Amino acid sequence: MQHPLPGRPATCQRCGRFIHHGLEERAVRLTLFFIPVFTTSRSYRITCSNCGAVNTLTRRQKNSLSL
Ligand SMILES: [Zn+2]
Repeated sequence: MQHPLPGRPATCQRCGRFIHHGLEERAVRLTLFFIPVFTTSRSYRITCSNCGAVNTLTRRQKNSLSL
């Protein structure tokens, strides 16, 4: 499951430019016999709009950046 989010400007770890990054939320669910049981964790992917580099953030990292 993915939720597109507005994104925000950030410094890219690859190209080093301060530029808009797309932000996408992903929920990772534990499944038991193919039945979703509960959401085990969430992660966030940010994509650089300049070079296309994708970085994955944990919820803690995201919160620390106030994304
Ligand atoms: Zn970049």
